[in-house]
Amino acid sequence: MPAKERIAIFPGSFDPYTKGHEDIVMRGLQIFDKIVIGIGYNSAKRNRYFDVDLMVSKIRELHKGDSRISVETYNELTAMFAKKHRADYILRGLRNTTDFEYENSIAQVNMHLAEPLETIFLITSPKYAHISSTIIREVHQYGGDISKLIPYKLEV
Ligand code: ADP
Repeated sequence: MPAKERIAIFPGSFDPYTKGHEDIVMRGLQIFDKIVIGIGYNSAKRNRYFDVDLMVSKIRELHKGDSRISVETYNELTAMFAKKHRADYILRGLRNTTDFEYENSIAQVNMHLAEPLETIFLITSPKYAHISSTIIREVHQYGGDISKLIPYKLEV
């Protein structure tokens, strides 16, 4: 029998998708056969800075050469999104203890919502540890240059 495909979802707000996120995906592909990048988005709340459709198209364009990567939006429990994609794994990145505190409780909840559902953490690459979507939004809001922090060109 062929080995079961290892499918992971990489959930997040990706507002915007950064070089740090790209790095987690590329390293994740050394572990998983497929990664579904899931942009959690509540259409009723509309509480994003960067347009979700723009972000989907930028991420798809960026990874279009690699059929192991797909990009979807979702508006449901992350655990349910994972099951829909037959994913037994959630991929997340860890930068610091703040990330850890937050991730620790979510990972435990997700494990109970859908079993088997393991969260696999990759420690940030030092060269990307300083990159966060929050900082990018702030820099962009005040007209700063974010081009070195994101892995695609943004015209907005
Ligand atoms: P969320 O809104 O769920 O925190 P984000 O879009 O901010 O989602 O991040 C998605 C995932 O990527 C999280 O696991 C986060 O810790 C991780 N991440 C964000 N920036 C980096 C980075 N620079 N290096 C490694 N992981 C990162």
